[in-house]
Amino acid sequence: MTELYDLHCHSTASDGALSPTELVQRAHQQGVTSLALTDHDTTNGLVEAQLCATTTGIRLIPGIELSTNWQDKCFHIVGLGIDPDYLPLAEATHNLQATRLERAEKIALKLEKKRIPGAFEAVKKAAGKGMITRSHFADFLRSQNHVSNQQEAFDRYLAKGKSAYVSTSWAELELAVSWITGAGGVAVLAHPLRYKLTANWMKRLLTAFKEAGGQGIEVITSRMNADEIRIAADYATRFELAGSMGSDFHNATNQWVELGRLAPLPNNIKPVWELLG
Ligand code: AMP
Ligand code: MN
Ligand code: MN
Ligand code: MN
Repeated sequence: MTELYDLHCHSTASDGALSPTELVQRAHQQGVTSLALTDHDTTNGLVEAQLCATTTGIRLIPGIELSTNWQDKCFHIVGLGIDPDYLPLAEATHNLQATRLERAEKIALKLEKKRIPGAFEAVKKAAGKGMITRSHFADFLRSQNHVSNQQEAFDRYLAKGKSAYVSTSWAELELAVSWITGAGGVAVLAHPLRYKLTANWMKRLLTAFKEAGGQGIEVITSRMNADEIRIAADYATRFELAGSMGSDFHNATNQWVELGRLAPLPNNIKPVWELLG
């Protein structure tokens, strides 16, 4: 059987549309043989995902996508092969739930000032026991016809600098990496080209990330063209980082993003899964 890795996706434990069970089943249908569930700042979906993976016969790699700060910017760090019971990580995710709840209240207040009431109740209901994210606000704004799609919700209200943006202090990158490595996992810089950093800033970031114990970088994510893959692969080579691949799947409405639908990792890149036990 051909191995197919997808090491980045989301369930209802954060801003994904599918339950962990549905997600694992869909990954299996798409031919994925190893799946990492990497919800935003939570490991709560992992138990259910593992149960389903065992019955389905797919390998589940326990993961997380941590929101972090470095030089006052926000970066996402994926942890792969983590022990979710590692106490500092478990405490951190517990605290992050409160951080996200408080942030949601502030975002809702800003929307109220824009004469858009009811957001907090709506996102809280939609997220259920899961993490509340800006995606939930985007869904709410669309359902109330304030915007016609997710992107517009970010462009008009939720993105940095827009009227309902709330700046949040996440964990410092070095600390977040230490939670991952302490939990026995491999830290991977998520979607490196999405931060729009100059080459010089990228160099500073990757130097700091490596010094903190980071070992991987996503070289293949959805919707990357050949040039972008080459740029990401160059960073992996230059900074001696292993390459990861993941769809960042959230839901089935975006036809360009599907579990396991990924270009192969370039031959000269060391696959991150070789670092996983
Ligand atoms: P949060 O972690 O709560 O700030 O929410 C971040 C999530 O919102 C990301 O993981 C994406 O799923 C989504 N997101 C962020 N920026 C955008 C954007 N410009 N367009 C659509 N979705 C976005
Ligand atoms: Mn998301
Ligand atoms: Mn991300
Ligand atoms: Mn993600």
